[in-house]
Amino acid sequence: MEAQVWTSDDLGSNSSSGYSVDEQVVEGACWEEASKDTIKKTTKPCPHCQIPVEKNGEGCMHMKCPQPQCKFEWCWTCGLEWNCNCMGDDWFD
Ligand SMILES: [Zn+2]
Ligand SMILES: [Zn+2]
Repeated sequence: MEAQVWTSDDLGSNSSSGYSVDEQVVEGACWEEASKDTIKKTTKPCPHCQIPVEKNGEGCMHMKCPQPQCKFEWCWTCGLEWNCNCMGDDWFD
């Protein structure tokens, strides 16, 4: 009678499951294009000195030029100097 003993020394064999991720290289040009678009949508040139000014916050049409020499205030919607009419008409647009 022969007792067959199975030695389980193959427990940790072939367990090196290093799965390789196919890293897709995101094309930089793609999101560069997108950020350009964002800048276009959120900035407008100052009607006075033409430097691009970022729109601050949602809904506020009151733009103010950051240039110390300029400080021109205008309406985002009309592109005209800030006035009381604009404050009423465009405020919650
Ligand atoms: Zn300006
Ligand atoms: Zn306006």
